[in-house]
Amino acid sequence: ILHMRKEFTIDHIETIADDVLALCVPRTSGATVLALTGDLGAGKTTITQSIGKKLGVTENMISPTFVIMKHYRLKTSDYRLLVHIDAYRLDSSAEMKTLGFDTLIADPENLIVIEWPERIADILPTDCIRVSLEHLEENKRALIVE
Ligand code: ADP
Ligand code: MG
Repeated sequence: ILHMRKEFTIDHIETIADDVLALCVPRTSGATVLALTGDLGAGKTTITQSIGKKLGVTENMISPTFVIMKHYRLKTSDYRLLVHIDAYRLDSSAEMKTLGFDTLIADPENLIVIEWPERIADILPTDCIRVSLEHLEENKRALIVE
């Protein structure tokens, strides 16, 4: 899929999560990185939670805004680890190194979902999967892949 634009309400979040997961094809050279852009409240965390559920995460996935990064072990997926990053509070990508990002990104068994990827653009793989969310109305969002 090269281009996609889908408007959705929260009750269709699972279908949207399926669409995004279909784009997350494992790479042999390292982790699969999903860069999720969109304004505050666009639904980046919500879709990541839905993706987590589909990959078998049973624990509550809280927003990593304050901790920057959260890990979830996966048992029922091709990926072994889901890494959820919120780069909003970072001043530079150098801070990611102290969180072990280099090791995480080198492992093909990891799926790394990044909110506010523009904050750490210089350390993202060039072939990362880029998805945007747009806030249309109170309960309506758009998923955009270009
Ligand atoms: P972000 O992580 O992008 O800041 P969140 O996922 O934390 O955004 O918040 C999105 C908020 O919008 C949630 O409270 C969610 O319930 C609500 N919401 C309403 N409609 C939708 C929708 N169609 N898709 C995603 N979230 C929605
Ligand atoms: Mg968020």
